[in-house]
Amino acid sequence: MTEIGTGLPFDGDKLKEECGIFAIHGHAEAAAHAALGLHALQHRGQEAAGIVSFDGEHFHSHRAVGLIGDIFGRKSVIDGLPGHAAIGHARYATTGASMLRNVQPLFADFAFGGLAVAHNGNLTNAMVLRRRLVEEGCLFQSTTDTEVIVHLIARSRRQNIVARVVDALREIDGAWSLVAVFADGILGGRDPLGVRPLVLGRLDEAWILASETCALDIIGAEFVRDVEPGEIVIIDRNGLKSLRPFAPRPHRFCIFEYVYFARPDSMVEGRGVYEVRKRIGAELARESAVPADVVVPVPDSGVPAAIGYAQESGLPFELGIIRNHYVGRTFIEPSDSIRHLGVKLKHNANRASLAGKRVVLVDDSIVRGTTSTKIVNMVRAAGATEVHMRIASPPTTHSCFYGVDTPERSKLLAARHTVEEMAGIIGVDSLAFLSIDGLYRAVGEARRDHAVPQYCDACFTGDYPTRLADLEGELGGRQMTFLLEDA
Ligand code: SF4
Repeated sequence: MTEIGTGLPFDGDKLKEECGIFAIHGHAEAAAHAALGLHALQHRGQEAAGIVSFDGEHFHSHRAVGLIGDIFGRKSVIDGLPGHAAIGHARYATTGASMLRNVQPLFADFAFGGLAVAHNGNLTNAMVLRRRLVEEGCLFQSTTDTEVIVHLIARSRRQNIVARVVDALREIDGAWSLVAVFADGILGGRDPLGVRPLVLGRLDEAWILASETCALDIIGAEFVRDVEPGEIVIIDRNGLKSLRPFAPRPHRFCIFEYVYFARPDSMVEGRGVYEVRKRIGAELARESAVPADVVVPVPDSGVPAAIGYAQESGLPFELGIIRNHYVGRTFIEPSDSIRHLGVKLKHNANRASLAGKRVVLVDDSIVRGTTSTKIVNMVRAAGATEVHMRIASPPTTHSCFYGVDTPERSKLLAARHTVEEMAGIIGVDSLAFLSIDGLYRAVGEARRDHAVPQYCDACFTGDYPTRLADLEGELGGRQMTFLLEDA
């Protein structure tokens, strides 16, 4: 899920997470479990969240801007969401676009009754579809691409709700994992490429759908299986039914889920994220070893790869940078005069582990390079004699159009500079990235250059697995964004 029509610039140096979705059917405390599940998925979106429940007669909704604990921590809020079925959404959005009308799940009253939908991913033809729908008379309440799906459901001529949803999903391109709740039950699905994750779980008689297995663990649910790419599962009082309404396509799961997005304690697509990240670190050590005294992660996302690097290289692992976990992801520096302190709000050098040492600094990626530069300066100021940066992914040379908030391509450091130039800009003694084949080896594939790659890796290769209809339009994406905002 992303917005159409904010026109806002990318506001940070890290790739931003996407969204987390959760659904439960057949539990007397559905909303409370949804809140817990979303809490476990908080890393996928920290700006806003919502839950819609159904009690057999009425739908109930609570949506707000903020963190899950703040929004759903009060009993009175959960008591206002009765029912045996609920879906929830944890949302990431760029600053300013978190207005309440964009917070999911989106609920609509259709001819067949109510339905609420929550979506993770990004549609690559949302602007084209939205323009068509507006011309046909649709009135949009939000600027999210998810609302395009809602309007497509409304316009389907089919009688059956699931058939209407499938009709709508046939029209959209891009990456989507979604969940929906309606009077008869819940449904969940993944796009035919399976770019975004969605797992199925069981808690006693209840069925659960969630972005990651960590959301099953928190409520004591058992992991059943991944929802397969192109699969729609419908869960009602008769149990679970699976549909495969789309033509099969080669699967292209987002490889960056393994590098950065997913929580390390999650299993995605049959693989433990923590183990993959350690293997990534080991590959990195094999590909670009350097004489050094310590391996230091940029916390938290660089930690498992740094452990893998240290184990493979035989160098000691040290927590040379300490992260302050009490700084919200949305922390906004109150004035320009302290803005330059930015990175120190989150990270501080642990001088005892760095002074007089040759340091291998392990991070997951470099986007614009500004945070890396500050961290390297911090490590040098703490007395490191050499700083060698090792990145647990290939250079990020392309923007993501599948639900991850990356800056436009011209702002990506690796799109404009060679590795040597980047090393000079960041101020390190040496810089090396994991190769694309090394990344594939770490996730268990021998090479990237199969006839069709096994993953989406477009931010490293530019090989986008779907059409980018919105970008292929006569106007550039951002100009079209403004036109749509005006429409
Ligand atoms: Fe994932 Fe990169 Fe593909 Fe986006 S472009 S879906 S971040 S691999």
